[in-house]
Amino acid sequence: MKRIGVLTSGGDSPGMNAAIRAVVRGGLYNKMEIYGIKRGYEGLISGDIDEMQISSVSDIIQRGGTVLRTARSERFQTPEGFKRALDMIENFEIEGLVVIGGDGSLRGGLDLTKAGVPVMGLPGTIDNDLAYTDFTIGFDTSVNTALSAIGNIRDTSSSHGRATVVEVMGRNCGDIALYAGLSGGAETILIPEVPVDINAVCRKLIQGRNRGKLHSIIIRAEGVAMSSADLADMIEERTGMETKVVVLGYIQRGGSPTARDRLMASRMGYRAVELLLADSGSRAIGIRGSEIVDYDLEEALKMKRPHDESIIDLAEILS
Ligand code: ATP
Repeated sequence: MKRIGVLTSGGDSPGMNAAIRAVVRGGLYNKMEIYGIKRGYEGLISGDIDEMQISSVSDIIQRGGTVLRTARSERFQTPEGFKRALDMIENFEIEGLVVIGGDGSLRGGLDLTKAGVPVMGLPGTIDNDLAYTDFTIGFDTSVNTALSAIGNIRDTSSSHGRATVVEVMGRNCGDIALYAGLSGGAETILIPEVPVDINAVCRKLIQGRNRGKLHSIIIRAEGVAMSSADLADMIEERTGMETKVVVLGYIQRGGSPTARDRLMASRMGYRAVELLLADSGSRAIGIRGSEIVDYDLEEALKMKRPHDESIIDLAEILS
Protein backbone atom coordinates (compact mmCIF):
# COMPACT_ATOMS: atom_id res chain seq x y z
CA MET A 1 0.00 0.00 0.00
CA LYS A 2 1.42 3.32 -1.07
CA ARG A 3 -1.05 6.11 -0.42
CA ILE A 4 -3.17 6.37 2.74
CA GLY A 5 -5.58 8.91 4.24
CA VAL A 6 -6.07 9.93 7.86
CA LEU A 7 -9.02 11.67 9.47
CA THR A 8 -10.38 12.52 12.92
CA SER A 9 -14.14 12.30 13.49
CA GLY A 10 -16.80 12.77 16.19
CA GLY A 11 -15.90 14.60 19.42
CA ASP A 12 -12.27 15.69 19.63
CA SER A 13 -10.06 14.14 22.29
CA PRO A 14 -6.61 15.03 23.65
CA GLY A 15 -4.03 12.79 21.99
CA MET A 16 -5.62 12.80 18.54
CA ASN A 17 -2.75 15.01 17.37
CA ALA A 18 -0.18 12.55 18.67
CA ALA A 19 -1.96 9.81 16.70
CA ILE A 20 -2.02 11.91 13.51
CA ARG A 21 1.68 12.66 13.95
CA ALA A 22 2.49 8.96 14.32
CA VAL A 23 0.49 8.04 11.21
CA VAL A 24 2.09 10.81 9.12
CA ARG A 25 5.66 10.34 10.28
CA GLY A 26 5.37 6.54 10.49
CA GLY A 27 3.93 6.42 6.98
CA LEU A 28 6.57 8.74 5.53
CA TYR A 29 9.29 6.71 7.22
CA ASN A 30 7.93 3.69 5.35
CA LYS A 31 7.89 5.57 2.01
CA MET A 32 4.11 6.05 1.92
CA GLU A 33 2.21 9.15 0.82
CA ILE A 34 -0.11 10.48 3.50
CA TYR A 35 -3.24 12.50 2.82
CA GLY A 36 -4.83 14.47 5.66
CA ILE A 37 -8.63 14.65 5.41
CA LYS A 38 -10.15 17.67 7.19
CA ARG A 39 -13.31 17.64 9.33
CA GLY A 40 -13.81 13.87 9.35
CA TYR A 41 -16.28 12.33 6.91
CA GLU A 42 -17.59 15.82 6.04
CA GLY A 43 -14.19 16.77 4.57
CA LEU A 44 -13.94 13.41 2.84
CA ILE A 45 -17.24 14.06 1.06
CA SER A 46 -16.23 17.59 0.02
CA GLY A 47 -12.69 16.61 -0.99
CA ASP A 48 -11.03 18.77 1.68
CA ILE A 49 -7.87 16.67 1.44
CA ASP A 50 -4.18 17.65 1.41
CA GLU A 51 -0.94 15.75 1.21
CA MET A 52 0.98 15.89 4.48
CA GLN A 53 4.72 16.19 5.06
CA ILE A 54 6.96 15.73 8.10
CA SER A 55 6.57 19.43 8.91
CA SER A 56 2.74 19.24 8.72
CA VAL A 57 2.78 17.58 12.13
CA SER A 58 5.58 19.59 13.77
CA ASP A 59 4.86 20.96 17.22
CA ILE A 60 1.49 19.23 17.67
CA ILE A 61 2.20 16.26 19.98
CA GLN A 62 1.58 18.41 23.05
CA ARG A 63 -1.59 20.07 21.75
CA GLY A 64 -5.16 19.05 22.60
CA GLY A 65 -7.87 18.98 19.92
CA THR A 66 -7.04 17.91 16.37
CA VAL A 67 -5.16 19.81 13.67
CA LEU A 68 -7.23 17.98 11.05
CA ARG A 69 -10.33 19.35 12.78
CA THR A 70 -13.37 17.15 13.29
CA ALA A 71 -17.09 17.03 12.55
CA ARG A 72 -20.20 14.96 12.86
CA SER A 73 -21.43 14.28 9.32
CA GLU A 74 -25.08 13.48 8.68
CA ARG A 75 -24.40 13.47 4.93
CA PHE A 76 -22.03 10.54 5.32
CA GLN A 77 -24.94 8.41 6.48
CA THR A 78 -27.02 9.16 3.36
CA PRO A 79 -26.56 7.03 0.19
CA GLU A 80 -25.51 10.12 -1.84
CA GLY A 81 -23.02 11.32 0.78
CA PHE A 82 -21.54 7.87 1.21
CA LYS A 83 -21.13 7.49 -2.56
CA ARG A 84 -19.37 10.85 -2.76
CA ALA A 85 -17.03 9.74 0.03
CA LEU A 86 -16.17 6.61 -1.96
CA ASP A 87 -15.69 8.67 -5.14
CA MET A 88 -13.23 10.95 -3.31
CA ILE A 89 -11.25 7.98 -2.03
CA GLU A 90 -11.03 6.77 -5.63
CA ASN A 91 -10.24 10.21 -7.09
CA PHE A 92 -7.39 10.76 -4.64
CA GLU A 93 -6.24 7.16 -5.19
CA ILE A 94 -6.30 6.52 -1.44
CA GLU A 95 -5.73 2.82 -0.80
CA GLY A 96 -6.38 2.70 2.93
CA LEU A 97 -7.75 4.97 5.64
CA VAL A 98 -6.93 5.63 9.29
CA VAL A 99 -10.05 6.74 11.17
CA ILE A 100 -9.46 8.24 14.62
CA GLY A 101 -12.71 8.64 16.55
CA GLY A 102 -15.33 7.08 18.76
CA ASP A 103 -17.85 4.28 18.24
CA GLY A 104 -19.83 6.12 15.54
CA SER A 105 -16.71 7.04 13.58
CA LEU A 106 -15.48 3.44 13.64
CA ARG A 107 -18.92 2.24 12.51
CA GLY A 108 -18.57 4.65 9.59
CA GLY A 109 -15.21 3.00 8.92
CA LEU A 110 -16.93 -0.38 8.90
CA ASP A 111 -19.33 0.84 6.21
CA LEU A 112 -16.32 1.88 4.11
CA THR A 113 -14.74 -1.53 4.74
CA LYS A 114 -17.86 -3.22 3.38
CA ALA A 115 -17.52 -1.04 0.28
CA GLY A 116 -13.96 -2.32 -0.20
CA VAL A 117 -11.80 0.28 1.60
CA PRO A 118 -9.33 -1.04 4.20
CA VAL A 119 -9.77 0.99 7.41
CA MET A 120 -7.69 1.15 10.58
CA GLY A 121 -9.80 2.34 13.52
CA LEU A 122 -8.10 4.17 16.38
CA PRO A 123 -10.17 4.77 19.54
CA GLY A 124 -10.16 8.58 19.78
CA THR A 125 -12.75 9.58 22.38
CA ILE A 126 -12.63 10.74 25.99
CA ASP A 127 -15.56 8.48 26.90
CA ASN A 128 -13.70 5.13 27.12
CA ASP A 129 -16.82 3.52 25.70
CA LEU A 130 -15.21 1.13 23.19
CA ALA A 131 -15.24 -2.35 24.68
CA TYR A 132 -12.44 -3.84 22.56
CA THR A 133 -9.79 -1.64 24.23
CA ASP A 134 -8.99 -1.07 27.89
CA PHE A 135 -8.47 2.64 27.23
CA THR A 136 -9.31 5.16 24.53
CA ILE A 137 -7.10 8.07 23.45
CA GLY A 138 -8.01 11.13 25.54
CA PHE A 139 -9.61 9.33 28.47
CA ASP A 140 -6.60 9.66 30.77
CA THR A 141 -6.24 13.39 30.07
CA SER A 142 -9.93 13.89 30.66
CA VAL A 143 -9.84 12.06 33.99
CA ASN A 144 -6.87 14.18 35.09
CA THR A 145 -8.66 17.37 34.10
CA ALA A 146 -11.73 16.31 36.08
CA LEU A 147 -9.50 15.36 39.01
CA SER A 148 -7.86 18.75 39.11
CA ALA A 149 -11.31 20.42 39.09
CA ILE A 150 -12.51 18.11 41.89
CA GLY A 151 -9.50 19.19 43.97
CA ASN A 152 -10.48 22.84 43.60
CA ILE A 153 -14.12 22.11 44.36
CA ARG A 154 -13.15 20.15 47.47
CA ASP A 155 -11.30 23.19 48.88
CA THR A 156 -14.29 25.48 48.65
CA SER A 157 -16.69 22.69 49.60
CA SER A 158 -14.78 22.13 52.86
CA SER A 159 -14.59 25.83 53.69
CA HIS A 160 -18.36 26.16 53.43
CA GLY A 161 -19.20 22.71 54.79
CA ARG A 162 -21.36 21.87 51.83
CA ALA A 163 -22.01 19.01 49.46
CA THR A 164 -21.24 19.33 45.77
CA VAL A 165 -22.59 17.32 42.87
CA VAL A 166 -19.88 17.33 40.20
CA GLU A 167 -21.20 16.40 36.77
CA VAL A 168 -18.67 14.81 34.44
CA MET A 169 -19.02 13.59 30.85
CA GLY A 170 -20.26 10.09 30.04
CA ARG A 171 -23.63 9.54 28.41
CA ASN A 172 -23.54 5.76 28.30
CA CYS A 173 -20.27 4.89 29.98
CA GLY A 174 -19.42 5.98 33.52
CA ASP A 175 -15.66 5.46 33.30
CA ILE A 176 -14.68 9.14 33.68
CA ALA A 177 -16.85 9.32 36.80
CA LEU A 178 -15.43 6.06 38.16
CA TYR A 179 -11.76 6.91 37.63
CA ALA A 180 -11.99 10.59 38.63
CA GLY A 181 -14.30 9.70 41.53
CA LEU A 182 -12.07 7.05 43.06
CA SER A 183 -8.84 8.99 42.56
CA GLY A 184 -10.48 12.23 43.74
CA GLY A 185 -11.79 10.70 46.96
CA ALA A 186 -15.47 11.23 46.13
CA GLU A 187 -18.05 10.01 48.67
CA THR A 188 -20.41 8.74 46.00
CA ILE A 189 -20.04 7.91 42.31
CA LEU A 190 -23.13 7.73 40.12
CA ILE A 191 -22.87 6.18 36.65
CA PRO A 192 -25.44 5.51 33.91
CA GLU A 193 -24.98 1.74 34.21
CA VAL A 194 -26.29 1.64 37.81
CA PRO A 195 -29.67 3.03 38.98
CA VAL A 196 -29.48 5.82 41.58
CA ASP A 197 -30.36 4.80 45.14
CA ILE A 198 -31.07 8.23 46.63
CA ASN A 199 -31.57 6.79 50.13
CA ALA A 200 -28.09 5.26 50.05
CA VAL A 201 -26.58 8.53 48.76
CA CYS A 202 -28.16 10.54 51.59
CA ARG A 203 -27.32 7.94 54.23
CA LYS A 204 -23.67 8.14 53.23
CA LEU A 205 -23.66 11.95 53.42
CA ILE A 206 -25.28 11.95 56.84
CA GLN A 207 -22.81 9.36 58.15
CA GLY A 208 -19.95 11.54 56.88
CA ARG A 209 -21.35 14.65 58.51
CA ASN A 210 -21.82 12.78 61.82
CA ARG A 211 -18.14 11.86 61.68
CA GLY A 212 -17.29 15.55 61.30
CA LYS A 213 -16.60 15.50 57.58
CA LEU A 214 -16.53 19.02 56.16
CA HIS A 215 -17.16 18.33 52.51
CA SER A 216 -18.95 15.79 50.40
CA ILE A 217 -18.32 15.25 46.73
CA ILE A 218 -20.81 13.33 44.63
CA ILE A 219 -19.60 12.54 41.12
CA ARG A 220 -22.41 12.11 38.63
CA ALA A 221 -21.87 11.05 35.00
CA GLU A 222 -24.08 13.09 32.66
CA GLY A 223 -25.98 10.00 31.47
CA VAL A 224 -27.38 9.16 34.93
CA ALA A 225 -31.18 9.20 34.75
CA MET A 226 -31.65 11.62 37.69
CA SER A 227 -30.45 15.13 36.72
CA SER A 228 -27.78 16.92 38.77
CA ALA A 229 -30.28 19.63 39.77
CA ASP A 230 -32.87 17.07 40.97
CA LEU A 231 -30.17 15.17 42.82
CA ALA A 232 -28.98 18.33 44.61
CA ASP A 233 -32.57 19.28 45.52
CA MET A 234 -33.28 15.84 46.97
CA ILE A 235 -30.04 15.82 48.97
CA GLU A 236 -30.82 19.27 50.43
CA GLU A 237 -34.37 18.22 51.24
CA ARG A 238 -33.42 14.95 52.90
CA THR A 239 -30.17 15.86 54.67
CA GLY A 240 -30.51 19.61 55.23
CA MET A 241 -27.02 20.05 53.70
CA GLU A 242 -26.49 22.93 51.33
CA THR A 243 -25.73 21.29 47.96
CA LYS A 244 -24.23 22.93 44.88
CA VAL A 245 -23.95 21.62 41.35
CA VAL A 246 -20.82 22.04 39.21
CA VAL A 247 -20.98 20.90 35.58
CA LEU A 248 -17.44 20.41 34.25
CA GLY A 249 -18.56 20.28 30.60
CA TYR A 250 -16.19 20.87 27.72
CA ILE A 251 -13.13 21.61 29.84
CA GLN A 252 -12.83 17.80 29.99
CA ARG A 253 -12.33 17.66 26.22
CA GLY A 254 -9.46 20.12 25.94
CA GLY A 255 -5.96 20.51 27.30
CA SER A 256 -2.53 19.13 26.63
CA PRO A 257 -2.61 15.30 26.54
CA THR A 258 -0.99 13.37 29.38
CA ALA A 259 2.12 11.29 28.73
CA ARG A 260 -0.05 8.17 28.84
CA ASP A 261 -2.34 9.45 26.08
CA ARG A 262 0.54 10.67 23.92
CA LEU A 263 2.38 7.39 24.28
CA MET A 264 -0.67 5.26 23.56
CA ALA A 265 -1.71 7.40 20.57
CA SER A 266 1.80 7.28 19.11
CA ARG A 267 2.01 3.50 19.46
CA MET A 268 -1.48 2.95 18.04
CA GLY A 269 -0.84 5.33 15.12
CA TYR A 270 2.31 3.49 14.17
CA ARG A 271 0.56 0.11 14.49
CA ALA A 272 -2.04 1.38 11.99
CA VAL A 273 0.73 2.14 9.48
CA GLU A 274 2.31 -1.29 9.98
CA LEU A 275 -1.02 -3.04 9.45
CA LEU A 276 -1.76 -1.04 6.30
CA LEU A 277 1.71 -1.86 4.96
CA ALA A 278 1.02 -5.54 5.59
CA ASP A 279 -2.38 -5.35 3.80
CA SER A 280 -4.10 -6.69 6.92
CA GLY A 281 -7.66 -5.77 5.97
CA SER A 282 -9.62 -3.58 8.39
CA ARG A 283 -8.57 -3.62 12.03
CA ALA A 284 -9.49 -1.84 15.25
CA ILE A 285 -6.42 -0.91 17.27
CA GLY A 286 -6.51 -0.80 21.05
CA ILE A 287 -4.59 -1.54 24.21
CA ARG A 288 -4.88 -4.52 26.58
CA GLY A 289 -2.74 -4.12 29.68
CA SER A 290 0.38 -2.52 28.26
CA GLU A 291 0.17 -4.30 24.88
CA ILE A 292 -1.05 -2.61 21.71
CA VAL A 293 -3.54 -5.02 20.14
CA ASP A 294 -5.65 -5.16 16.99
CA TYR A 295 -8.86 -6.98 16.13
CA ASP A 296 -11.00 -7.40 13.05
CA LEU A 297 -12.95 -4.11 12.91
CA GLU A 298 -16.39 -5.71 12.74
CA GLU A 299 -15.67 -8.14 15.59
CA ALA A 300 -14.21 -5.34 17.74
CA LEU A 301 -17.38 -3.26 17.42
CA LYS A 302 -19.51 -6.19 18.60
CA MET A 303 -17.56 -6.63 21.85
CA LYS A 304 -19.18 -5.82 25.19
CA ARG A 305 -17.50 -4.79 28.44
CA PRO A 306 -19.34 -4.45 31.77
CA HIS A 307 -18.46 -1.46 33.96
CA ASP A 308 -16.05 -2.13 36.79
CA GLU A 309 -18.32 -2.42 39.83
CA SER A 310 -15.29 -2.97 42.09
CA ILE A 311 -14.25 0.69 41.60
CA ILE A 312 -17.58 1.90 43.02
CA ASP A 313 -17.28 -0.54 45.92
CA LEU A 314 -13.72 0.55 46.64
CA ALA A 315 -14.69 4.25 46.52
CA GLU A 316 -17.43 3.48 49.06
CA ILE A 317 -15.00 1.68 51.36
CA LEU A 318 -12.29 4.31 51.17
CA SER A 319 -14.36 7.49 51.42
P1 ATP B 1 -17.68 10.54 20.36
O1 ATP B 1 -17.46 9.29 21.17
O2 ATP B 1 -16.72 11.59 20.70
O3 ATP B 1 -19.11 10.99 20.34
P2 ATP B 1 -18.14 9.29 17.79
O4 ATP B 1 -17.20 8.88 16.73
O5 ATP B 1 -18.93 8.20 18.46
O6 ATP B 1 -17.29 10.14 18.83
P3 ATP B 1 -20.47 10.20 16.35
O7 ATP B 1 -21.05 11.57 16.23
O8 ATP B 1 -21.33 9.12 16.87
O9 ATP B 1 -19.14 10.39 17.22
O10 ATP B 1 -19.93 9.74 14.91
C1 ATP B 1 -19.13 10.56 14.10
C2 ATP B 1 -19.58 10.41 12.66
O11 ATP B 1 -19.43 9.05 12.25
C3 ATP B 1 -21.04 10.73 12.42
O12 ATP B 1 -21.27 12.09 12.22
C4 ATP B 1 -21.35 9.93 11.16
O13 ATP B 1 -20.89 10.60 10.01
C5 ATP B 1 -20.50 8.68 11.37
N1 ATP B 1 -21.31 7.62 11.99
C6 ATP B 1 -21.82 7.60 13.24
N2 ATP B 1 -22.53 6.47 13.48
C7 ATP B 1 -22.49 5.75 12.33
C8 ATP B 1 -23.04 4.49 11.93
N3 ATP B 1 -23.77 3.72 12.76
N4 ATP B 1 -22.80 4.09 10.66
C9 ATP B 1 -22.07 4.84 9.82
N5 ATP B 1 -21.53 6.03 10.13
C10 ATP B 1 -21.72 6.48 11.37
